[in-house]
Amino acid sequence: MTEPIRIELPTIYGMKSVNAYLFLTPELTLIDCGEKTDAAWEALQTALGVYDLAIKDIQRIIITHAHVDHIGMAGKISAESGAKVWVNEYCYDWAVNTEEMWQHRTAMMEKHVLGDMPPGEEGATAAKMLRSFFGTISNVWDPLPAEKVITFPLEGTLEMGGTTWQIIYAPGHTNMQTCFYQVDKKWLIGADMLLSITPTPVIEFSLTDRNKRENGLAVMLESYQKMLDLDIDKVFPGHYEPFGNHRKLIHNQLRRIQLRKEATYQLIEEGKTRFYELFDVLYANRLNMPGMSMLRGYLDLLIDENRIEESMEDGYTVYRIV
Ligand SMILES: [Zn+2]
Repeated sequence: MTEPIRIELPTIYGMKSVNAYLFLTPELTLIDCGEKTDAAWEALQTALGVYDLAIKDIQRIIITHAHVDHIGMAGKISAESGAKVWVNEYCYDWAVNTEEMWQHRTAMMEKHVLGDMPPGEEGATAAKMLRSFFGTISNVWDPLPAEKVITFPLEGTLEMGGTTWQIIYAPGHTNMQTCFYQVDKKWLIGADMLLSITPTPVIEFSLTDRNKRENGLAVMLESYQKMLDLDIDKVFPGHYEPFGNHRKLIHNQLRRIQLRKEATYQLIEEGKTRFYELFDVLYANRLNMPGMSMLRGYLDLLIDENRIEESMEDGYTVYRIV
């Protein structure tokens, strides 16, 4: 069996590029596919051209998670090639009812991030940024027609590249993320679970209750444990270069999360009580969504540990030492 072929595609959202992976045989399969932009389309075409192939030859697309940089171009590729798009069962709604899901997620972001922004100009700027982010995402992400979508379970196996891969559910970065593990070669197609930088848990709603926010960072910590248990020789991540020694990487990232969580606690101890006050100290650039997600996560962990408590004062959420 041959390694998945890495294709780096440029992106607008998230990081500056995303990895798609290609299996040439027994059927031309693409894992993740970038955003629907001319630049990503051309980069994919060029990469396939090396093998005398074109986008119309793609037979199957498999999605690790339904974030715009991983699934956005699936509709366009599928329309050109007739390829079916395989998504796990938690991604199905995102793949097909994309706009409705975005509306829910926007509402959640507005409630949990904008609600805690300072009044006045700064809050207004943050609100504008968030809304324009959500507003333009649909330009680079086409919903898929239901008949093009095949769902796969969160546990079990998938045949790719002439061999069997275990499906590993790895929530945290998002609660709809799956990785794929090849046990003989000890390869992991890692999505955004294992990256050379610490993945951020996006602010999203719970799978069981769309009015509830998912406690993403706590879930991500559990998925890290799952990854530590796996014997992996090589990780094929969703972004940046493939790497080995995943346990060292995980331990470094866990240590950093621990340090940042303690820094958050200390600031609360020093009398900072509001989200934006904490964010201001912890992150140089306030209008930074990954940072907001991480701080949200540190606060969640501290609440879980019963070290701080969250309450409402004058219409704002405040945090205090227990
Ligand atoms: Zn990603």
